[in-house]
Amino acid sequence: MIFDLHSHTTLSDGALVPAALISRAKEKGVDVLAITDHDTLDAYKQLPLDTDEIKLVPGIELSTQWQTTGIHVLGLNIDLDSDAIKAATQFQTGARLERACQIGEKLKKHGIEDAFTGAQKLSSGGYIGRPHFAQHIINIGKANSMRAAFRKYLGAGKAGDVKKHWADLPQIIQWIRDANGIAVLAHPLKYKLTGTKLKRLLDGFIEAGGQGMEVVSGRQLPQQTRDMAQLCEQKNLLASCGSDFHLPGKSWAELGQFAALPDNVVPVWDCF
Ligand code: AMP
Ligand code: MN
Ligand code: MN
Ligand code: MN
Repeated sequence: MIFDLHSHTTLSDGALVPAALISRAKEKGVDVLAITDHDTLDAYKQLPLDTDEIKLVPGIELSTQWQTTGIHVLGLNIDLDSDAIKAATQFQTGARLERACQIGEKLKKHGIEDAFTGAQKLSSGGYIGRPHFAQHIINIGKANSMRAAFRKYLGAGKAGDVKKHWADLPQIIQWIRDANGIAVLAHPLKYKLTGTKLKRLLDGFIEAGGQGMEVVSGRQLPQQTRDMAQLCEQKNLLASCGSDFHLPGKSWAELGQFAALPDNVVPVWDCF
């Protein structure tokens, strides 16, 4: 059985509409899929959940911060109708909009005109994120790739990296738990923390009620999988895995195509 518990659609920063994502996942051999758009559940409004194409696990990827690091927390197997998850998306959508205005102002000071309007035009409505700003920067010729736009303007520590608007980590985890979901720390290796700091982040995450971590996130080295599995076991967390698929092509892993979870961890789906 292939569980892919992390993926995006056009309702956040993915390239495929929900139905196309599901068809592609099926094609790639995925048996169980979680759509986990950034801070929104809008994809689920476009679907019947009991699709017979594939088993869907309702999910979301919420943005927050730990100390000065921007981090992402997956809410898996959440109750889509719960007040808690509605409160979460409402708060985060407002936070995103405020943040986008602030990113626009900051970019203006760095010579990028009309960034907010440009990004907003490129977005689907509910989600307006840094990838839209990056696309605008490319469109006006100030960078020639997403990567370059993030490196120059939007990545960690750059002008457009505005974190302070999100709900804090304990609140994010509480919303997920109140929605009967499991809170999973997304892609722990992406934060580029030292081993000691990552352990501290996990301790803070657990103290706030976090229950799982992604042991496998997209393409990673076998040694990284072993390290993450060991950490997961040590911290008594549930283990998750997913592609974090955004679009077909080289920059993101393909749906369902990542290493299997090692035997020494407890898969998160044991608790679904
Ligand atoms: P946001 O949700 O607005 O904070 O935007 C974060 C999203 O931007 C991530 O989920 C990625 O999809 C994308 N992203 C982050 N860093 C990079 C990068 N260096 N190159 C391309 N895309 C990136
Ligand atoms: Mn993304
Ligand atoms: Mn993420
Ligand atoms: Mn993601």
